[in-house]
Amino acid sequence: MRILAVFAHPDDEAFGPSGTLSGYALTGHTVRLVTMTRGEAGTLGPAQHLSREELGRLRSGELRCSAAALHLSELLIHDYPDGKLSELPAEEGVNILRREIEAWHPDILITFHCGGISGHPDHQAISRWCIQAVREEGVPPRLFAFGISEEQARRAHNRGLIPIPDDEITHVIDVTPYLKYKLDAIGCHQSQSAAWEKMKHLEGSIESYFRNEHFSQVWPESFSRMCHGRLED
Ligand SMILES: [Zn+2]
Repeated sequence: MRILAVFAHPDDEAFGPSGTLSGYALTGHTVRLVTMTRGEAGTLGPAQHLSREELGRLRSGELRCSAAALHLSELLIHDYPDGKLSELPAEEGVNILRREIEAWHPDILITFHCGGISGHPDHQAISRWCIQAVREEGVPPRLFAFGISEEQARRAHNRGLIPIPDDEITHVIDVTPYLKYKLDAIGCHQSQSAAWEKMKHLEGSIESYFRNEHFSQVWPESFSRMCHGRLED
């Protein structure tokens, strides 16, 4: 299978569905990650003493480290403006996705759930672009929206995270065998270690928090059946 994952910033993939991505990559599937920005508008850690150019370079390097840790097949880092994706004309955003789909022919496309997990407008914009691009394609890939469950949002109390409503979750993937790769990928994003420190205050262990990754199949529209284990089911 050919799996295309599209996210906004360096670290979205690591804190996002990295267990699933590494699992597929390590079992013979081709996994391509496209990240729309270089993360130059970040505010954590070194952002306080680096220029935007320097921060973008640092975070691009961290993303390459993460993609290698996850054993991904391909990585493309675009240089669209961090924090301003939602201000781009929708047509331009949709075209980026359309070109990817037509050139690369993914079987599966993975992006953010429409709430964007953290509610970041960049995340929400990419989710909208993906849905529109897939709806307009002649031979569309299956589109999966990644997000956290209501239980995970509760365990990360007071961080304002937007979960996938439980009744929209169609696939739950147990990524226990790939947790090591996920944690290695998160570790690559040293400039975002403050975010990681906050995550350590979750209820329960990090391992139990990250064990399951949650998806909603948004295209073709699914009939609210819950699948465990594999996106190809
Ligand atoms: Zn992000």
